Amino acid sequence: MECIFCKIASKEIKAKIVYEDEEIIAFDDLNPHAPVHILIIPKKHIESILGLNDEDALLIGKINLAAKKIAQKFNLSDFRLVSNCGKKAGQSIFHIHYHFLGGRRFQWPPG
Ligand code: AMP
Ligand code: ZN
Repeated sequence: MECIFCKIASKEIKAKIVYEDEEIIAFDDLNPHAPVHILIIPKKHIESILGLNDEDALLIGKINLAAKKIAQKFNLSDFRLVSNCGKKAGQSIFHIHYHFLGGRRFQWPPG
């Protein structure tokens, strides 16, 4: 198993975990781009949004609910949830993840 996020999910690699349940784990990004920058991942290895199947629908819905719990935990009413899919969109780790960014103002459209 060479995937770094699988290793974080199995606790083989350390991370600052901020939320965890049976299927999902969320931890601080090593290189934060906002005062709160958390990565929310399913423990199950899926490469990206393009690797999703119909059976993953509930799991991916639960990612949004995990984001809500994290927002409440950090008392944030304004935040962004982003999943980069593919190299040109900025994906560098090919285990699906959702960046939860908060604690500052964000521009739209993104760069
Ligand atoms: P992306 O570029 O969308 O694939 O995002 C990957 C993110 O993973 C980047 O923001 C990295 O800073 C972050 N990252 C890489 N390795 C680790 C790690 N060991 N622990 C926490 N975050 C990491
Ligand atoms: Zn993985």
